[in-house]
Amino acid sequence: MLSHNLGYPRVGSQRELKKASEQYWAGKIDRDALQKVARQIRHRNWETQQQSGIDLIPSNDFSLYDQVLDTSLLVGAIPERYNQLIDGKSNRELDLYFAMARGVQREGVDIKAMEMTKWFDTNYHYIVPEFIKNQKFNRYSDKVILEFEDARQQGIITKPVLLGPVTYLLLGKEKEEGFDRIDLLDQLLPVYIEILKELASRGAEWIQLDEPCLVLDLTDKYKIALESAYAQIHEAVPNLRILLATYFGALEDNLSLATNLPVAALHIDLTRGEESLSAVLSDRDFINSTKLLSLGVVDGRNIWKNDYKKSLDFIQKTVDIIGENRVLIAPSSSLLHSPHDLDLEKNEEVLTPEIKNWMAFAKQKLAEVSTLTKLSGTDYIKNKLFTTNQKAIESRRTSTLIHKTLVKKRVTAIELQDFERKNNFGARQIIQLEKLKLPLFPSTTIGSFPQTDDVRQLRANLKKGILTQQEYENRIEEEIVKSLRWQEDLGIDVLVHGEFERNDMVEYFGESLSGFVFTQNGWVQSYGSRCVKPPIIYGDVERPAPMTVRWSAFAQANSDKLVKGMLTGPVTILQWSFVRDDQPRKDTTFQIGLAIRDEVVDLEKAGIKVIQIDEPAIREGLPLRKSAWKNYLKWAVDAFRLSAAGVADQTQIHTHMCYSEFNDIIDSIAAMDADVITIETSRSQMELLDAFADFNYPNEIGPGVYDIHSPRVPTIEEITLLLEKALKVIPARNLWVNPDCGLKTRKWPETEAALRNMISAANLLRESVAIEQ
Ligand code: GLN
Ligand code: ZN
Repeated sequence: MLSHNLGYPRVGSQRELKKASEQYWAGKIDRDALQKVARQIRHRNWETQQQSGIDLIPSNDFSLYDQVLDTSLLVGAIPERYNQLIDGKSNRELDLYFAMARGVQREGVDIKAMEMTKWFDTNYHYIVPEFIKNQKFNRYSDKVILEFEDARQQGIITKPVLLGPVTYLLLGKEKEEGFDRIDLLDQLLPVYIEILKELASRGAEWIQLDEPCLVLDLTDKYKIALESAYAQIHEAVPNLRILLATYFGALEDNLSLATNLPVAALHIDLTRGEESLSAVLSDRDFINSTKLLSLGVVDGRNIWKNDYKKSLDFIQKTVDIIGENRVLIAPSSSLLHSPHDLDLEKNEEVLTPEIKNWMAFAKQKLAEVSTLTKLSGTDYIKNKLFTTNQKAIESRRTSTLIHKTLVKKRVTAIELQDFERKNNFGARQIIQLEKLKLPLFPSTTIGSFPQTDDVRQLRANLKKGILTQQEYENRIEEEIVKSLRWQEDLGIDVLVHGEFERNDMVEYFGESLSGFVFTQNGWVQSYGSRCVKPPIIYGDVERPAPMTVRWSAFAQANSDKLVKGMLTGPVTILQWSFVRDDQPRKDTTFQIGLAIRDEVVDLEKAGIKVIQIDEPAIREGLPLRKSAWKNYLKWAVDAFRLSAAGVADQTQIHTHMCYSEFNDIIDSIAAMDADVITIETSRSQMELLDAFADFNYPNEIGPGVYDIHSPRVPTIEEITLLLEKALKVIPARNLWVNPDCGLKTRKWPETEAALRNMISAANLLRESVAIEQ
């Protein structure tokens, strides 16, 4: 039995690659210096894996930006607009590569970057391949060869990793009409085959081809493409051992397709698709073949320690049927999605030894894989490695830090009426109209105002103890008052307090709720050089005390206008954290929903009449398989309703969404039953509104009238045009006027200019509607 790994984090345990690439982009270091850092990370990764006892170590899992972009460069799928950057010299390849990832803007050259989107259901983003009708592929980059040779010089014969040809095409986009990208397969395959042949001739024994598309709903065309691709590959390089890696879900209806492909080994994810195991093990063809089965038992996407008992049972069950020699042990997916090294978490006040003992980051997961490989087939019950592991698992199962009877009871006691406002929207709208006295086309913003260095400094100084709590609060209050006066002068109708006290919209709440912990170095790559440090939800979630009431009440006391309370919703908090694997996501979300509900009720008690609960991440929580959508959307919407429904009809509940296209879940958005939704639409020129119109969306809506992601100031005319467009499909009494997201990343001058134009446009619209009537 061999152990192997599918991929390792590549930014470096101290985010060395992030720092070096950003310096390179800023022109502060040269290419050699950047490549040197990259090489050091690769060497260290190989060394770490070797020392951890991993038998088959991957190469080409490293990337300077993204592995899908690497693939585009490997097969020469370089969009035409970058042609001027191709000059055949390999030393220019790096600049071409970064230009594709980030765009270039210098004298004489102005080329847009390629699009970026989420990698399956993770928070990692890849660069979307662009294809044209006459797409030609030819081998362009030597990266995979160079990395293989580099490792060989270190004495390691690696298992090169390539994104499989079918998933690669699936992840791309047609940039012109009149063809289907999967039809490009026959053009693409010769390039793959050429590379595989070269790797084989250089001594590669194993190649890992990633085809995570096998866990998706596939059309027949894609199924046939998989069969054809792997038949051709097998024929061309019959002696190269291909490990076909699937992950992020179960194979389901693609199972026999996957087990019948002519490859040497099949990898399945047992953390998100446990059921694939029994299915593969009852597949006669597979059992009777000589194929190996790679068991992804260690979760590559979460931070919890592996339960050795459970994994060893999986392994034993497999060995009993196909024999030890046909089994490989691995993480479920690439470890790219876990933080680097738990040993770097040294602050025991932040991460107590008890909680830390439940966790494993990438480096610790390697040890788990290798230990499981060693223990299997032995009499492990008394083995120290096994017993210590089981002690940790048991401690997590029973710890009172995690399990809070009252919280669990409260979730079980939720009743249908807890999801319902007192009256339906129609009745609420009439009451709110009377109580809130808002004008037609009310204006508002999404919550945050520019986070200047001064504001950031305030929070940092509080943490460092340079400011006392009192001094800090005084300074934040000053900022709030300034922003209130400023909003009043502009003539905004529903004000916000500005979120100056918040670092991040999830972290802020995580820090005030029980059941969350934070790491100091738990960085995970999000895209390119950007890394995030997700909070960890380890236990039952409770709200020990109000979290935002102090600031919202202060703000409302300092203005005669309405000031909106501002909260992050339960689904978004869940979605952007590492979550528990010992209870369904739904249960965790309901616990958070109850905590937010308490906050909403307390805000109402404190005199806040308009409360926004942001749910930008609701769309991205959708399961990969369509058949699972309904169930997810039901509980996600319920969790939101649970958080919102504790207030009287006259209290106006807002929600906000962005970062996704929402057309396909519009009925669920309506089911959330927020009185008002503010939503990102300006980049698509309000295209989304057609969906709202077709659906006959009943509640009030503020389609963002300008894109806050750019410093550009929109003109009054542009905004007016968009509002008029919106008015064609939304009844006038339901239309709000607002930007399309929070203003945190903007500077004050452009924010003021943009909002001034926005208010002018709203006023003009009111006048013209008044004249018409
Ligand atoms: N209220 C948050 C803000 O304004 C919303 C952020 C978001 O949607 N991502 O910053
Ligand atoms: Zn937003």
